[in-house]
Amino acid sequence: MATETERPTLQKSIKNLLDDISVPRRLYCSDCGSALLHLEAQFWLFGSEQAWNIPIPYCSNCDPAIAEHKGFII
Ligand SMILES: [Zn+2]
Repeated sequence: MATETERPTLQKSIKNLLDDISVPRRLYCSDCGSALLHLEAQFWLFGSEQAWNIPIPYCSNCDPAIAEHKGFII
């Protein structure tokens, strides 16, 4: 049985996720093959001093509106 110290906390799991996705994985569009561009989005974890810059990939060929406005709302 896992003890409290062995069990990953939700905050640690979220930090690991943000660490993982802060590195761009996809370089080319899966639909048209064009090189992907990336918007930088900042994420903060409530209760933490740490922030992450997460590159959000988009294709300027398939998503010209994003490329034109250089941003989107999630
Ligand atoms: Zn594309």
